[in-house]
Amino acid sequence: EVDWFSLASILFLLMFAPLIVYYFIMSCDQYQCSLTDPLIDLLTGNKHLSDIWNKTPTLTYRAASIYALWVAFQMLLYLFIPDFCHKCLPGYVGGVQEGAVTPAGVVNKYEINGLQAWIITHVLWFANAYYFHWFSPTIIFDNWIPLLWCANVLGYAVSTFAMIKSYFFPTNAEDCKFTGNFFYDYMMGIEFNPRIGKWFDFKLFFNGRPGIVAWTLINLSYAAKQQELYGQVTNSMILVNVLQGIYVLDFFWNEAWYLKTIDICHDHFGWYLGWGDCVWLPYLYTLQGLYLVYHPVQLYTANAIGILMLGLIGYYIFRMTNHQKDLFRRTNGNCKIWGKKPEYIECSYMSVDGTKYYSKLMTSGFWGWARHFNYTGDLMGSLAYCLTCGFEHILPYFYIVYMTILLTHRCIRDEHRCFSKYGKDWKRYTAAVPYRLIPGIF
Ligand code: NDP
Repeated sequence: EVDWFSLASILFLLMFAPLIVYYFIMSCDQYQCSLTDPLIDLLTGNKHLSDIWNKTPTLTYRAASIYALWVAFQMLLYLFIPDFCHKCLPGYVGGVQEGAVTPAGVVNKYEINGLQAWIITHVLWFANAYYFHWFSPTIIFDNWIPLLWCANVLGYAVSTFAMIKSYFFPTNAEDCKFTGNFFYDYMMGIEFNPRIGKWFDFKLFFNGRPGIVAWTLINLSYAAKQQELYGQVTNSMILVNVLQGIYVLDFFWNEAWYLKTIDICHDHFGWYLGWGDCVWLPYLYTLQGLYLVYHPVQLYTANAIGILMLGLIGYYIFRMTNHQKDLFRRTNGNCKIWGKKPEYIECSYMSVDGTKYYSKLMTSGFWGWARHFNYTGDLMGSLAYCLTCGFEHILPYFYIVYMTILLTHRCIRDEHRCFSKYGKDWKRYTAAVPYRLIPGIF
């Protein structure tokens, strides 16, 4: 059942999310990244909407070719090059891996080769920049708005296709969720794990590639643009490239672990994931680098070191918290967390067919400090990216505002789900670990 608040939020997002992305990118293109100047111009009658629209670059044949080539190349890497990284990189889990059990009891197999795709793509990028010179490394920045139209075409096409597919040829009919509300179903998705053939998994492909592989390339393209415009790359741009590069590499290094996160385990595939991965992620997660092309901030060394430390500590907390839960769950509690046997609460839940299962919720390590300390680390890292841009404009701070809303909402959504799953055991757990994100505060 869809409540009015969810429906209102969904309608708002469907109508305004594409406009928000356009507004941010257009303000950089036409207003040096000022978010207020376009509004002032419009409100004072200095400019009309049509003036702004007419100055916006249109879809070009060149951008369409670049984008089509990019997506086709990522599909090729995803589908046809089995993983070799797990054979030569100690500790890396890749190749064929199993996902979590779906509500209908299906266990999907996935070819985990994202790290390999990321490496091949980046080796080719650097080989082109320093040796082949097929195209300029500023290519992404130079076609940024025409590429936005292409990303939208793909985002809408894939979400609409997923909707039609769930009615006419679902991969697993028992894992479909119909609410009967068209907008909700389109946004949140009907099919759980839509696939084409045995290996083309929509969620794994669109969540990770082409968007997240592109993330680091987009930042490199911004750095190249700074070099072209100002003859140097600022320390702030290097920081953004390094900190976000670590985050992206971490994602691919842990792609197999990612199969057990909320996105893959609980979310259905609709516009939220399809359009979000194609448009929202590559365009709004990279705003800091884009801003630094227009405002090349050179940070004082002490500030740069402070931001680097904040980013690295945030990353450490994010990674270690996720690692502690993963280790705890994989070993069923038979492990050491900070040198000691972990403490936990035994809990049980009932599946739809009435079978009783047992599980454990850890109450020590970072999981004893707060119930979502992994999100706290993620937020510290997000703040570090934004701080690299100084305080002249609010645009680069969009990321931390968005991540705070996303992760707080996720936290509430997850706790609601856990409460329905574990009942009174979840209450015992929240009594043992009373804070969500910041110990002593929230
Ligand atoms: P979590 O990894 O926090 O997983 C939550 C689940 O873990 C719960 O549903 C519950 O599942 C289990 N769990 C909760 N508490 C405990 C406990 N104390 N001990 C053992 N298991 C517990 O959430 P996500 O999947 O959302 O996040 C994964 C990571 O991805 C996070 O670090 C997050 O910051 C990051 N992320 C980044 C985003 C981005 O856009 N940059 C977007 C979303 C996430 P069960 O039913 O199995 O008990």
